[in-house]
Amino acid sequence: MRIAIIAHDGKKPEMVAFLLKNKDKLKDVELFATGTTGGHVANAGLKVTKLLSGPIGGDAQIAAMAATNELDMVIFFRDPLGKHPHEPDVQMLMRICDVHNIPMATNPATAELMINGSSPIG
Ligand code: PGA
Repeated sequence: MRIAIIAHDGKKPEMVAFLLKNKDKLKDVELFATGTTGGHVANAGLKVTKLLSGPIGGDAQIAAMAATNELDMVIFFRDPLGKHPHEPDVQMLMRICDVHNIPMATNPATAELMINGSSPIG
């Protein structure tokens, strides 16, 4: 199973906490992350493949993976109170996930349900 993870700056600690809490369930999961999120996750001791940082194309890379059937899920902890220069990329990623029916969680409560839920689609 392959999961992409992204967290806006204000949500990075929450992402690390979420992954550590679910470490056992992620044993056989290959993680992909936008650059800075990936750095935090790697520092916490988890294995992760880092893509570009979000604002310079990392979200777009994850969207491309979703479009080519290389991902089973996307977990994106968005900061709804912040402004983001790459908002168009964020919208594009959400659209691509909907086009390809890729499960996508945008907050920890949904991510928790998703990770404890059914087997991946595809
Ligand atoms: P980052 O990108 O992990 O490189 O900070 C996340 C984002 O899309 O803001």
